[in-house]
Amino acid sequence: MSDIDLVLKAKLQEAKDAFGAKLPEKLAEADMAWAELLKAEGQEAQAECLDALVHVVHKLAGTAPTLGFISVGRIARTIQTLLLAVKKGNGQLSREERQQIAALINDLKASLNDDGVDVFEGLSNQKKSPLPDDTNDEANEVFVLDGNEAIGGPLASQLKHYGYILEIFDNSDALRDELQSRRPSAIILGADYDENGGKLFDLVSSVKEVRKDMPPIILLGAQDTLDLRLQAVRSGAAAFLTNPNDIARIVEALDEFTSQEDPDPYRVLVVEDSQALAELYKVLLEGAGMIAHLVFDPMEIMGPLHELNPDIILMDINMPGCNGIELAQVIRQREEFFQTPIIFLTADGGFERELLALKTGGDDFFAKPVYPELLISSIRARAERARMLSSMISRDSMTGLANHTKIKEMLGDEFARSKRFKQPLSFAMLDIDNFKNVNDTYGHWTGDTVIKSLAQVLRQRLRRSDIIGRYGGEEFAIILPNTDGDTAVQVLDKIRRGFGKVKQHSENEEFVTTFSCGVADFPTIDDPAEINKKADEALYEAKHAGRNCVKKATGE
Ligand code: GH3
Ligand code: MG
Ligand code: MG
Ligand code: MG
Repeated sequence: MSDIDLVLKAKLQEAKDAFGAKLPEKLAEADMAWAELLKAEGQEAQAECLDALVHVVHKLAGTAPTLGFISVGRIARTIQTLLLAVKKGNGQLSREERQQIAALINDLKASLNDDGVDVFEGLSNQKKSPLPDDTNDEANEVFVLDGNEAIGGPLASQLKHYGYILEIFDNSDALRDELQSRRPSAIILGADYDENGGKLFDLVSSVKEVRKDMPPIILLGAQDTLDLRLQAVRSGAAAFLTNPNDIARIVEALDEFTSQEDPDPYRVLVVEDSQALAELYKVLLEGAGMIAHLVFDPMEIMGPLHELNPDIILMDINMPGCNGIELAQVIRQREEFFQTPIIFLTADGGFERELLALKTGGDDFFAKPVYPELLISSIRARAERARMLSSMISRDSMTGLANHTKIKEMLGDEFARSKRFKQPLSFAMLDIDNFKNVNDTYGHWTGDTVIKSLAQVLRQRLRRSDIIGRYGGEEFAIILPNTDGDTAVQVLDKIRRGFGKVKQHSENEEFVTTFSCGVADFPTIDDPAEINKKADEALYEAKHAGRNCVKKATGE
């Protein structure tokens, strides 16, 4: 068991112990409420006592099973169902119902001893966030097996510009030997193979045997058939590429599979009046690498909602003051949270109510008790999808970069932040030089790959905190937080020189392209719209100065 498992286990045990300690008291409460109900005279008093008992068992049914008190939960739920049926009817208990409930209440008290089921079961095989290892991923090393020496040299020199370092092997034994002691961030296998691809796929299997933590394998072949692609999928290769000269595509695959960005942890806002349950969800969510923020009082949700900006909201339906369904409607009225998924938690299991909740803005339902593994996997899937959707709205589909609207919005946000923290900020506008010529000479499709290659170079070469956007056709915009104008000019000039060496490929030819760039910064310029304008003017100046250079805007 890893340290995380141990911590998680300890925290869960704590939650379970705390609940277990209070359980006798809670069962006594149920027993008392039942006694009151039996004694109650008159319709009104009976109705009141009935409600009180429903309240007690309802809470037990929701919380107990999640914390491992399975029998308590099951019996409480049965009692709840019976009582709700009575409430729906004439409110009077029949003789039979009395006997039934009395027996169940006794079972409930007795069940305290049966429980203690292992609430941790299944947790250890829960998917964990990857732990950092001590391998040399940092360097972005790629091993290449190049049987016929077709790809090694040119590929190596090109990939350097994208931040990859290639180590070329000319036979599979040497590759396997090296893999024993080193783990590159990816492996590219390029080999001759017979018509059925036999040799290549045997090679994949034999390479995969070397290590358990095999990095992604990219296959480079010269033929493209459905059958080969199918075999590639079956062999477990991460990608199957057919043109060794298509550097852009190779880099795209490498970027995709070796991405070092651990995604920001998912943010979950938990709205739940039962503190024990809320704490438990927090432990579970945090154990799965997410951030959980708890709100016990539904009336206090707005502050945390804005602060956390959650990927997903997990919300109890039954809460005092304002129920979850009402709260969801209120949240949905706010434009910025219109798309945030809301998952309801309910102990009722009443179909009508679920339907209402879904109609009024909920996205999904969990009937309590919620089982840890199910909770985590559902939340993860929903949050992932929600993020994907929102990024589709704010991203340019060709390059995956922030689109025009988004980058302008972010310039506003980042400017405000820089001003508040009294830090510099730079904004750069880039435009590919004579791009019309590229299109005219090599075709629009090749033009597109040039745009993508610049996007990749920018992604690889800038810091993670820098924000890159596709501003328009062949124009890009970059926000460099906490960077003064002179530094930004240096950084971009270095990128400019690198990009100028990247070989672009059309069907039969190689060529290079360049870009011009204008930079403006805060505090030299103290207004986001003005920064934008000045950067554009500096770009114009760079074009005028002969292109392929970087210019900085002055304050005037
Ligand atoms: P300059 O150095 O002054 O920037 O010259 P330029 O040729 O790059 O500038 P111009 O604005 O005249 O031409 C830009 C061209 O970019 C025109 C347009 O057709 C092309 N373009 C815009 N968006 C795309 C795109 O998504 N794909 C491709 N292939 N071309 C595009
Ligand atoms: Mg509740
Ligand atoms: Mg342009
Ligand atoms: Mg241009």
